[in-house]
Amino acid sequence: MDIEFSASYEAFLAERRAELLSRIAEAAARVGRSADEVEVLAVSKTVGPEEVVLAWQAGYRRFGENRPQELTRKRTALAQVEGLPEIPFDMIGNLQKNKINQVLGNVRLIHSVSSPHLAEAISKRAEARGITVSVLLEVNVSGEGSKSGFVPHEVLAAAEDLVKLGGISVEGVMTMAPAHDADAARKTFSGLRELRDELRVVTGLPLDVLSCGMSDDFSIAVEEGSTLVRLGRIVFDQGYKLS
Ligand SMILES: *Cc1c(COP(=O)(O)O)cnc(C)c1O
Repeated sequence: MDIEFSASYEAFLAERRAELLSRIAEAAARVGRSADEVEVLAVSKTVGPEEVVLAWQAGYRRFGENRPQELTRKRTALAQVEGLPEIPFDMIGNLQKNKINQVLGNVRLIHSVSSPHLAEAISKRAEARGITVSVLLEVNVSGEGSKSGFVPHEVLAAAEDLVKLGGISVEGVMTMAPAHDADAARKTFSGLRELRDELRVVTGLPLDVLSCGMSDDFSIAVEEGSTLVRLGRIVFDQGYKLS
């Protein structure tokens, strides 16, 4: 990346970050929440390691990737950058069983545990390494056919068994809302929160993490209780127009 470009891109990242943090604070204030309750995950899947370094310098402290191979590529490149601390990544995308080992030990949180089968496979591999991996249960709250994740009644039925698995620690739930439909997004996020409340009763766990809200709908997600917004385009894309 040339120096001139990186200087203007870094200025863009910092300006955009200030704008979106203030929007998060406004959304939180509207419902009497504190902005401190909401963490930003910068989803770096469409950019390279250079942009991740600049985003780190702009103040982002937690990143998300949706493909194990790209996660490995970025982590390897970032490890070569002198003076840079280890950058924490979360896994947010579909995880195939044969890619679990590529992710274990390399991420802070797996957001996308979408079936009992996957939960068991992750747990088994984590136990074999003597580690416990923090996970979220991905739920298809909206019921859209294109979305992955547990059906809500299935996750309620499975929860008791899932939380007994020794290699995973269930920290909360994650969902994606239908695109371009603010009312549907709100219903999806409030549905996620209500489901979390039911899961708390079933499991006796705090399940504090509500991972929801992306570039187009994060303000709604914050109003509905999100604690972790996953932002890609709005963070990195200079062509993304704020509404
Ligand atoms: C890409 C992606 C995001 C970020 O989406 P934007 O609309 O670019 O903010 C969030 N969550 C998941 C699971 C993604 O794959």
